[in-house]
Amino acid sequence: MVSRIIPVDAFDLVVFGGTGDLARRKILPALFRRYCAGQMPEGAQVIGAARSEMNDAEFRAFVTEAVEEFNGNFQYSDEDLQGFLSILFYVTLDALGDGGWSELATKMQADRVRVFYFSVGPSLFGPLAERLHTYGMADMNTRIVVEKPFGRDLETSKALNRSLADHFDEHQIYRIDHYLGKETVQNLMAIRFGNMLFEPLWNSQYVDHIQITVSETVGVQGRGDYYDRAGAMRDMVQNHLMQLLCLIAMEPPSRFEPDAVRDEKLKVIRALDPVDPDNIVRGQYSAEGDRAGYLADVGDPHSTTESFIALKLHLSNWRWAGTPFYLRTGKRMRARSSEIAVVFKETPHSIFDEEAGRHRNILTIRLQPNEGIDLDVTIKEPGPGGMRLVDVPLDMTFTEALGPEAEYVPDAYERLIMDVVRGNQTLFMRGDEVEAAWAWTDPIIAGWEERRDKPLPYDTGSSGPVDALALMHRDGRRWREVRS
Ligand code: NAD
Repeated sequence: MVSRIIPVDAFDLVVFGGTGDLARRKILPALFRRYCAGQMPEGAQVIGAARSEMNDAEFRAFVTEAVEEFNGNFQYSDEDLQGFLSILFYVTLDALGDGGWSELATKMQADRVRVFYFSVGPSLFGPLAERLHTYGMADMNTRIVVEKPFGRDLETSKALNRSLADHFDEHQIYRIDHYLGKETVQNLMAIRFGNMLFEPLWNSQYVDHIQITVSETVGVQGRGDYYDRAGAMRDMVQNHLMQLLCLIAMEPPSRFEPDAVRDEKLKVIRALDPVDPDNIVRGQYSAEGDRAGYLADVGDPHSTTESFIALKLHLSNWRWAGTPFYLRTGKRMRARSSEIAVVFKETPHSIFDEEAGRHRNILTIRLQPNEGIDLDVTIKEPGPGGMRLVDVPLDMTFTEALGPEAEYVPDAYERLIMDVVRGNQTLFMRGDEVEAAWAWTDPIIAGWEERRDKPLPYDTGSSGPVDALALMHRDGRRWREVRS
């Protein structure tokens, strides 16, 4: 299998917040790997722009360290690194003032795609958008990329959307959710809409339920301030889990095109029923040994923010009426794992003895740690004797099926940044999607506040509070084991 690199025209890419944590860990290493893959055309420029005083040489030293630290097993030569450094530049600039803007403007080249990546806090989105116009850097070939959190409720997300819409058209705005850039997430669409096998079964007649789990082993990790104001609902469910839910539940779009896909995702969010408080479990991780618990980590002994949440959801539409969706996400859990499991119903009647048991097909889409897709099918256990049934996975781990060239799966940021350069918005959230997700989230959070709801404690290294297990058990179902 030969991987195809689609060429792009020369572009200028400015990373506002180019000296920040996200730029260092994700954006700059991702750009480097695209450079190594041959996807940076002659003349492309990457310009870091931030408040920190630096010159080009210092920025290149900063990027060298980032590339060395955050590239995993990726193999590269010194020539690759030197080549990449030669296209890097830096401008010291204040998003809230005028310093540095004229200098940035002089670095931009004419008649080419310009990408401005807003890797800064959301309070700077509006001022950056405004200054790009004031300093004449924005035209119809300009695209902006904005990071989460995109607001903290419907009102703030609307205000953010308005501050961008004052200066840019929707087709120029790329709201990034890196979950959508994962290879397996896109494969989910290929599996659903490229095969005859699954789609006819993809509804409440054949699907018993769907589980989405995103579990982390880390705690709030020095982000206590931000996290305690957000919690698992705002930080994970409103965006990442909601996006996964949309892709799994949406109707087939007429074409694999940005608005066709996003229209269908939006319909899913709008079909979500309000959630009964009995169908939500919130938790906070407890201290364990010398590891502090959530309250100590965020420095507030009275915090009622959740570091874990499990929910049972229903969609009011023809396809999914009667099929529950169970979502959970949490910190300090047993394993780092993200997966979607589509659990099919049992056959309507078993022709085998009772001891053969009843079995279900499960399609599992693993986002991490090792991206891939499994389909559990029921077969006869080999050997003489009675008909004993056993479930075996048809493992679609990509590297095994597609050979060693598939071993390198590009990081989500690599794909998404190049999609921006190409002008493809399919894997980015549209403003109305984000607002619809907040419109669904807001009353749930308001309900907690009204009831002074307190999260339940759970042990570090567990699967969350026991009530989350009961959420499934009372329906005669159980969560899949979280394994790394
Ligand atoms: P950070 O605090 O590490 O970096 C912020 C960057 O913005 C720095 O380069 C700083 O110099 C620059 N900056 C701040 N004020 C400025 C100003 N007035 N003018 C010009 N530059 C200014 O933040 P981060 O962790 O890199 O996060 C950036 C954005 O990405 C935030 O919106 C954050 O919520 C989001 N995000 C971060 C992560 C992550 O893992 N770090 C993950 C998802 C989303």
